[in-house]
Amino acid sequence: MATARRKRVLILGGGFGGLYTALQLEKELARNNDADVTLVNRENFFLFTPMLHEVAASDLDLTHIVNPIRKMLRLVKFFDGDVESVNLQNRTVTVSHGLEHHHHVLEYDHLVIALGSITNFYNLPGLQSHALTMKSLGDAIELRNRLIEHLEEADFECSAGVRDQLLTVVVAGGGFAGVETVAGVNDFLREALPFYPHLSEENLRVVLVHSGPVILPELGEKLGGYAQKKLAQRKVEILIDTRVKRASELGVELGDGTLIPTRTLVWAAGTSPNPLLETLPCKKDRGRIIVNEAMEVAEWPGVWALGDCAQVPDGKAGKYYPPTAQHALREGKVLAQNIVADIRGDRKRPFVFSALGQLAAIGRRTGVANILGFQFSGFIAWWLWRSIYLSKLPRLEKKVRVALDWTLDLIFSKDLVQFMTVRSASVSHTPETGTTSSAEESGVRDGVAALS
Ligand SMILES: Cc1cc2nc3c(=O)[nH]c(=O)nc-3n(C[C@H](O)[C@H](O)[C@H](O)COP(=O)(O)OP(=O)(O)OC[C@H]3O[C@@H](n4cnc5c(N)ncnc54)[C@H](O)[C@@H]3O)c2cc1C
Repeated sequence: MATARRKRVLILGGGFGGLYTALQLEKELARNNDADVTLVNRENFFLFTPMLHEVAASDLDLTHIVNPIRKMLRLVKFFDGDVESVNLQNRTVTVSHGLEHHHHVLEYDHLVIALGSITNFYNLPGLQSHALTMKSLGDAIELRNRLIEHLEEADFECSAGVRDQLLTVVVAGGGFAGVETVAGVNDFLREALPFYPHLSEENLRVVLVHSGPVILPELGEKLGGYAQKKLAQRKVEILIDTRVKRASELGVELGDGTLIPTRTLVWAAGTSPNPLLETLPCKKDRGRIIVNEAMEVAEWPGVWALGDCAQVPDGKAGKYYPPTAQHALREGKVLAQNIVADIRGDRKRPFVFSALGQLAAIGRRTGVANILGFQFSGFIAWWLWRSIYLSKLPRLEKKVRVALDWTLDLIFSKDLVQFMTVRSASVSHTPETGTTSSAEESGVRDGVAALS
């Protein structure tokens, strides 16, 4: 009697949605190893985004908020590469990897789409080339490097004319990512000043631009107002009901025509679903794939989607679940169980979840939190933020490293070292002729490249 072929499950994306789908499948496979699962991700690590602003603000070491995916998975295979295209008719996905980006075609029986979202500049002039973003580890490193580079440059007399521009930072977006970033950047710059003898508080300008009337609208007016007051006390300028119109080398132009002279604009004011979704013949809502309550794409059996790139119906509220990490990771667990149910001929179950609450760290041991309807602010909310997110950070090793960073932070000041990939100087001697060519002559220049 012929044995049935093992089902092939292919997961695209190793963020909160994809990784937690894989982790749950690991548990299911440990009981009954009846499927081959492969996870494809562009980076070989899982990024814990809630702590990203702490890397940008030099509170945490660069690698402490990321976990190597290979250390988290045993039964699931991992492919470090780019998803190039998906063919739903043929049930294949083309991926690429390596220096020359060569291609492979992967076949599947079940496809999990968890490719997340990307930054959206809404076609505003100059943003693509002048704004920094806050989505990836590279973004946080680039921002941290930029801040330190500008402090170093501004400290010299030759920079007197551009000092204020170098030391002005504009963050656009009064949601969680923007507020946490502006709070961290503000603390970092003010704590760094004593190490730069020619710089003073008067040179620093940190601005938060928000299009609504109160920042952190998800937390309500009271907590948003509290965050606004605290940040203002720490000299963050908050421009509410204001939009960024364009960006250039001169600075950031606001909706009313005001120009803020700056060389650092951080754009945290918009996302849109992964562009790869546009190529898929699935029903979408605002660019996100519409799935049923079990997270399967109704018109394509065996295709599933979750996280930021999916619209998962919230049956109770009659709308879709919001795109957050706490939803994506829980969706992943249920989705994995539904794939296993499908393979084993069992019943699939709907995803049902009531958010436990939301928290934001707003700098200097202060936070705001709404947990199960209870509102907290100040030190207790900050402590809750740290405790809850530390418990959510995967793997003991990284928890210990982050806890150590935070503990050492009580004793030492923030690190000012730039993280640069610099090729060391070199020469090429030719013994016969005695001629020497420097690296620069031979076309290999010492360079400074921020990770991206
Ligand atoms: C700065 C910041 C702070 C946040 N803070 C919080 C918070 O405090 N609480 C909260 O609940 N949510 C928070 N979020 C939101 C949360 O990170 C997202 O909702 C969550 O990551 C969505 O999970 P996902 O799996 O859909 O997408 P992601 O986690 O973004 O994962 C998508 C993965 O797909 C990979 N990928 C994309 N395209 C390709 C391709 N073509 N080929 C290969 N791989 C690809 C990406 O590299 C990534 O690893 C924050 C987000 C940011 C940016």
